Amino acid sequence: MQDYQKILNNIHKTLSQVENKGEVANYIPELAKVSKDKFAIYLNTINANNFEVGDAETAFSIQSISKVFSLAMAFANQGNKLWERVDVEPSGNPFNYLSLLEREKGIPRNPLINSGSIVIADCLVSSLENPKEDFLQFVRDLANDQSIDFDKKVAESEHKTGFRNYAIANLLKSFGNLENEVETVLDFYFHQCSIAMNCKQLSNAFFAFANQGICMGGNACLTATQAKRINAIMLTCGFYDEAGEFAFEVGLPGKSGVGGGIVALLPNEFVITTWSPGLNDKGNSYLGMKALEQFTTQTKSSIF
Ligand code: GLN
Repeated sequence: MQDYQKILNNIHKTLSQVENKGEVANYIPELAKVSKDKFAIYLNTINANNFEVGDAETAFSIQSISKVFSLAMAFANQGNKLWERVDVEPSGNPFNYLSLLEREKGIPRNPLINSGSIVIADCLVSSLENPKEDFLQFVRDLANDQSIDFDKKVAESEHKTGFRNYAIANLLKSFGNLENEVETVLDFYFHQCSIAMNCKQLSNAFFAFANQGICMGGNACLTATQAKRINAIMLTCGFYDEAGEFAFEVGLPGKSGVGGGIVALLPNEFVITTWSPGLNDKGNSYLGMKALEQFTTQTKSSIF
């Protein structure tokens, strides 16, 4: 077996000395309060070994990483009916882009850009009895950790400044692709994005995607086919207009968030999560991308 601990320590040490050109997200004011110096990596292998370096047990805002959880829950509940309302093609545009949605008549390109995730949020609001609580429970069960929670301050902060998401939701509504009220769906969406988790909890929660749908606690959270399809969507759409670059540099399915987290996985092998809040101009973690590039290069673990 590779000496993962040594590899992670080396990557962490090397990158801690590199100038961090990333900037902390400030369009959600609450996120701007986080220090750019935080840096962590956590690796969880399929045979239950784990390795960590840095602030791997400090919680941060998972933001768009939550889109994978909401997609998984909606897909598990509704099956292929989901694809009538959202497509599975990469968009090549920023996560909060509006024009494509207008041109394509309210059908989002994929479930990992904001418009697609807002449609998924609408599906969950329609189908769940207590949408926010039931969704949180789904994430807790995926991670096998009942302490995970929303960060109400972050949700409130985005509620006050989420003008583009209001524009997206209103456009979806105008095309008839939103069943519930804009305010209700966005309240769910802002809460899903506000969930606070650390690198360890995220790696545990993504275990099911690397493990044919069986989650950490041993339950079948998804079918193997659903896990396969979600991984494919992560690979092609998980980094918006940088999905090609992530495949080129790292070569794993993964998902980023503007809180500075990135989760990536090699099916049947491992899940790896990085956290560094400084973002590049595409909204993906500057050091996180570099750390993952070094990891898959050194361990020869890209899917390519
Ligand atoms: N809540 C954020 C938004 O909608 C999520 C964006 C992200 O993490 N890329 O703008």
